[in-house]
Amino acid sequence: MKYVLVTGGVVSGLGKGVTASSIGVVLKACGLRVTSIKIDPYLNTDAGTMSPFEHGEVFVLDDGGEVDLDLGNYERFLDVRLTRDNNITTGKIYQSVLEKERKGDYLGKTVQAIPHITDAIKDWIESVSAIPVDGKVGPADVCVIELGGTVGDIESMPFIEALRQLFFSTGPDNFCLIHVSLVPVLGVVGEQKTKPTQHSVRELRALGLTPHFLACRSAQPLLENTKQKLSQFCHVPAANILNIHDVPNIWHVPLLLRNQNAHEAILKQLALLCVARPPNLQ
Ligand code: ADP
Repeated sequence: MKYVLVTGGVVSGLGKGVTASSIGVVLKACGLRVTSIKIDPYLNTDAGTMSPFEHGEVFVLDDGGEVDLDLGNYERFLDVRLTRDNNITTGKIYQSVLEKERKGDYLGKTVQAIPHITDAIKDWIESVSAIPVDGKVGPADVCVIELGGTVGDIESMPFIEALRQLFFSTGPDNFCLIHVSLVPVLGVVGEQKTKPTQHSVRELRALGLTPHFLACRSAQPLLENTKQKLSQFCHVPAANILNIHDVPNIWHVPLLLRNQNAHEAILKQLALLCVARPPNLQ
């Protein structure tokens, strides 16, 4: 299994879900079978009891799972049917570990965040990513994992550590990390600011994960010198800095990625071949 991890930095609501879904679309257009997992580091077991005013719509899956709205995006973008287990929450992970603890599965052991919670996260990701969601037989080629929240949040630490371990064991050809970040423009100065992205990449690297790609959210397209600065200070090749500026509707985002040849760069990172070419839409 090849994994594409989408993380977010600087602020929430940046468009990680839309970016993750759009990456799935361009990979699917290359002839790959794609599945996806959304990680929500909150303690609720699922989104069913959360206020839509606070958290957006509750998306209901075919199996009755009440999940985060991003799974709705994945289903609509990728034409797949996901299961409730494709949405991992801290609540679900702790529930499964505590049930095992009560059954005596860890008898004699001190049950801890590391290794028991992180192992449960890794096992969950590995088993759910193998479930076919496109009506075909056998596991997908690529699993896009979106980590909700912002890198550096206390809640997401066990997930970051589990993902770090998972990717270390799967090897560099099977893992691609795309960090979605914000490039704001300060009104008075009128300059695209790279410092918030630099800080969030530093935070990610301090946790043992180095991004292969930056997906930069900005009001206007990134200027060439902004890209160069991001590349130099965030240790990401300029060709891997993707520009996801504001668009009139989110269906434009896969095209933005396609037009920047993001699919080719991601396939190269994953040591995969493109068996079909995405349509050359403008
Ligand atoms: P996150 O997963 O980071 O919380 P979402 O993917 O849910 O963010 O997106 C947050 C909001 O931003 C949504 O309303 C989405 O439609 C909008 N959005 C995302 N990307 C873009 C874009 N490139 N241009 C305009 N709106 C966007």
